[in-house]
Amino acid sequence: MKKYCFFLLPVLLLASCKPAVRKESRTVFALGTVCSIQLFTEKPQSKADTVLQICTRRLEELERHLSANAEISTLIDINKASGVSAVNVPADIYPLFERAMFFAEKTDGAFNPVIGGIVKLWNIGFENARKPEDRDIRDALFRTGYKDVQLTGTAVFLKKAGMKLDLGAIAKGFAADELTRIVRQAGIAHAVIDIGGTISAVGKRPDGKRWNIGIRDPRVQQGQPVISAAIESCSISTSGSYERYFEQDGVRYHHIIDPATGYPVRNNMIAVSVFSDSATDADALSTACFVLGYEKAVKLLAELPDTEALFIFDDNSVCTTAGLAQHIKVLDSAFRLADMNKHITGK
Ligand code: AMP
Ligand code: MG
Repeated sequence: MKKYCFFLLPVLLLASCKPAVRKESRTVFALGTVCSIQLFTEKPQSKADTVLQICTRRLEELERHLSANAEISTLIDINKASGVSAVNVPADIYPLFERAMFFAEKTDGAFNPVIGGIVKLWNIGFENARKPEDRDIRDALFRTGYKDVQLTGTAVFLKKAGMKLDLGAIAKGFAADELTRIVRQAGIAHAVIDIGGTISAVGKRPDGKRWNIGIRDPRVQQGQPVISAAIESCSISTSGSYERYFEQDGVRYHHIIDPATGYPVRNNMIAVSVFSDSATDADALSTACFVLGYEKAVKLLAELPDTEALFIFDDNSVCTTAGLAQHIKVLDSAFRLADMNKHITGK
């Protein structure tokens, strides 16, 4: 029997604010997920309303360009033109494609923005998710080479016919960065933007303290946070094997694919949260770290400035990179902070 389960928000916000401060919020469904914007402001309400409207419009625009599942989008045009021609991309979205290719190179393809053909085969997150035939996976793998993506400076060309871009692992972060830019430009100093679990905290809380972001046990739907992280002007993105999955013949298949095999990644991690100034980077890296596994992920993160991560393992141990440890609190005694080396082979 197939079962489908989707944890919409693996990370939740624990906020508080002074009564004098007004909180204006909006929730929108875009990019296949729930997007929420919370503005904390002393300015007149009309100002916050205008900012929320601009944010909503930007999300709609991003959806029109980046959706892999709508009837029409720029991304779908690029996919349709694979093997034939390059497709122009708006200048304000082009940097997303560049960043996606940067992380593809940096991770040797563990983060792979042309995994779309394989993602469509599994269809995880949709009614007809099923385990594909092995030969179909093998066949689709031929069209997932990230080196066959050509960026011309204004356009994107997929060199092989049938290649499919899927920016699902980075677009939520890009959207969070875009909304952060809009909010900051409007002079709003305190805000929280949540694009399907990729969270950007703008500034500090209105009371001058850090925001507390709660991380749930990804295995417990709508459970209480088990870990909290105190952050300011920072983004956090979580990737986990329990976010989207289905079960078939007693086996659980989740939505993060190992591009080397075309099958969902298997390792002892159940979730990884990446903290960065850039939500785009946090999003790409949380997916990449999940694919790479703990040891390689730690090496990758060490090469990237101002990037921290928290890993939750299937034995409930929790490891964090050095810069994060002081900002983390374990709230549930079933979880324990472990030495960073615990999950490194041979240590
Ligand atoms: P995230 O929830 O940010 O970890 O992204 C997962 C989504 O990214 C999946 O639903 C797929 O659309 C896509 N995806 C799956 N595996 C990969 C991968 N190895 N590299 C890049 N994108 C992926
Ligand atoms: Mg991601």
